[in-house]
Amino acid sequence: MNLPVAELLTFFARHGRELPWREKSAGPWGVLVSEVMLQQTPVSRVLATYRDWLRRWPTPAALAADSPGEAVRAWGRLGYPRRALRLHAAAVAITQRHDGRVPRDLGDLLALPGVGDYTARAVAAFAFGARVPVVDTNVRRVVNRLVRGIDDGGPAGAADRALLAELLPADASTAAALSVALMEFGALVCRASPKCDDCPVRDRCRWLTAGKPAATVTRRPQAWHGTDRQVRGRIMAVLRASPGPVPTADLDAVWPVAEQRRRCLDSLLADGLAVRRDPDSVALPGG
Ligand code: SF4
Repeated sequence: MNLPVAELLTFFARHGRELPWREKSAGPWGVLVSEVMLQQTPVSRVLATYRDWLRRWPTPAALAADSPGEAVRAWGRLGYPRRALRLHAAAVAITQRHDGRVPRDLGDLLALPGVGDYTARAVAAFAFGARVPVVDTNVRRVVNRLVRGIDDGGPAGAADRALLAELLPADASTAAALSVALMEFGALVCRASPKCDDCPVRDRCRWLTAGKPAATVTRRPQAWHGTDRQVRGRIMAVLRASPGPVPTADLDAVWPVAEQRRRCLDSLLADGLAVRRDPDSVALPGG
């Protein structure tokens, strides 16, 4: 089993998108910010927020000096705003433990608050050129199809990392370059609906050779309308738009079902995304 390394690297050199976090000037902090933002949000929605974020907080120390509430406000409509709190907590830890520099050691990265296995590996590979397997759903899909001849839409896990660790080239910088190329290939060509006719490695694809056997696991699209996520998003939009505390009565307009509204506000308070200023008003944390 092996990967078509040269072909994938050539694909990336020709077709890889020019994204701000791939520029040298982004540095490890830019890579970390982008990886957190991109976890559950597409590139097109991340770009503007990423640029604004880096302009405002060009270093971890700059973000650490500001309040977590401002991080949540600047997160805007990216969704899953707990990521803003986690990024703020990571910036504080980087400033306190690592003199304001994003650490390059995988163990140090993993020890940062809110930095999970995927993000730590992505920063180690993309920012520091380490030879570590970086497996998101795109990479998992590509490797499964190319190497294992199966289509499997399940989440990435330890077995996927172990397989990719075997497949990566021994040379660290080539391995890191391949990690970016695999991710881009999964985003642009070997998508959930793959563009096999345009694929530069179709001759090497076991899944295609096997006649595209049906997927073993498929992902259902997440519901949105009427969910707590939607209600939480509406409450957060009101808090972000307000320079100060918001009377809880003003939140009545965001959603007609009082019980669901209360439940969602309680969960935002429990998550630390909102704080009570007094019994009758709420605000962003630390603002
Ligand atoms: S031939 Fe199709 S499934 Fe195979 S790697 Fe290329 S795009 Fe993916």
